[in-house]
Amino acid sequence: MSRPRKVHVKSFGCQMNVYDSNRMADTLAPAGFTETAEASDADLVILNTCHIREKAGDKVYSEIGRIRMLKDAAEAQGRRMLIAVAGCMAQAEGEEIIRRAGAVDLVVGSQNYHRLPDLIARVQAGEQIVDTEFPVEDKFDVLSPPTREAIHRRGISAFVTVQEGCDKFCTFCVVPYTRGAEVSRPVEKVAAEVKRLAAAGVREVTLIGQNVNAYYGQGANGRPSTLGQLLHRLARVPGIARLRYTTSHPRDMNDDLIAAHGDLPALMPYVHLPVQSGSDRMLAAMNRRHTRKDYLDVIARLRAGRPDLAFTSDFIVGFPSETEDDFRSTLTLVDEVGYAGAYTFSYSPRPGTPAAAMESQVPSEVSLERLHRLQAIIARQQRDFNASFVGRTVDVLLEKPGRLPGQLVGKTPYLQTVQVMAPPSLIGSVLPVAITDIGTNTLFGALTEYAGMPALATAGA
Ligand code: SF4
Repeated sequence: MSRPRKVHVKSFGCQMNVYDSNRMADTLAPAGFTETAEASDADLVILNTCHIREKAGDKVYSEIGRIRMLKDAAEAQGRRMLIAVAGCMAQAEGEEIIRRAGAVDLVVGSQNYHRLPDLIARVQAGEQIVDTEFPVEDKFDVLSPPTREAIHRRGISAFVTVQEGCDKFCTFCVVPYTRGAEVSRPVEKVAAEVKRLAAAGVREVTLIGQNVNAYYGQGANGRPSTLGQLLHRLARVPGIARLRYTTSHPRDMNDDLIAAHGDLPALMPYVHLPVQSGSDRMLAAMNRRHTRKDYLDVIARLRAGRPDLAFTSDFIVGFPSETEDDFRSTLTLVDEVGYAGAYTFSYSPRPGTPAAAMESQVPSEVSLERLHRLQAIIARQQRDFNASFVGRTVDVLLEKPGRLPGQLVGKTPYLQTVQVMAPPSLIGSVLPVAITDIGTNTLFGALTEYAGMPALATAGA
């Protein structure tokens, strides 16, 4: 009997890539591939790449070097291993990847991975392929759905892509070039995917898109639907306890979506709303299409409808021509909003973007010094935010067993990890937990409805 074929998919970058990696594995399952966590054991290794973060390309090429050694070792044992590079870097660099790394058999763009079974068959027949054309067909119509086993293995929280691409053209960003123009999936197709996930035990769904709140998918009435309307539809799917969405643009935070935060208990009060800078001069240079005031107004409107909302954000420091005064405007904005956390980056040019060609690039030592100052403030805000939960009772979605016997790990509405003593039968439940202590990245507590359960000690956790 022939050995079952195995695929190892490694994700770099954002949640959209994690979702895409799962869908790649799903779409290869009917072709006889099962997933393996070990690259050395795989017949096909897919590196699902990102092109946004600093040094993303270097990381991928060094990973290809490592996989190439595994490929050579497999071949020495008479076994063929294929290497595919997928995702945003594949889309942006195409042929260049094969030129720099001849061990790569296939380069497949972020819009084409539904073609993987066919592409793999051609590679096995001896071709070396680069497929980065934007296709005419909708990949979501062609992709195989996940099996119940795959849904079960991935846990009770799932990502669902509802929107792809971006029309904003921020001057530092490659997404409009690598992911193309904004497209949105129809409401009922998203609802069908969410129903399938819920039937297999998923309790929390995060809707994802590069610019998710620009969503305009076709509604049941044939007309475009807003993200707020989509969330209303999904909140009615039996079994779904929690809904989230990411990543949003301040300009697309419309009345419907703001109202949904007040109206839908299932919509978690935790919003990732990138601002990038607190300086209007920098926001204009970044082509963000919003001002500092616009951003603060959106935050105020969201908080007015749902006072317990907490925010996270993205910041870039050291964008070309950023002065100390510009940077201080970012710090005052951070003070004004008060964040539960943030992703902070020192600007690094992405080839092909307008900002990469701008004059007045900020010296890296200046950028790094600013980054450290910003990170210290965000870290303090995050600590204060977490500390404010001690002594409070919060609803926790119990997700999986913890490291200690009898322990479960779950998430608060604000995505904080919580450890409690609780039986495994409660996985999937949302239950009130009294928070007793905080660690570096974790809250500790006790189920209030199971008074016999002791709170966890923090030591050694
Ligand atoms: S809105 Fe986001 S995805 Fe779109 S160009 Fe700007 S940073 Fe990139």
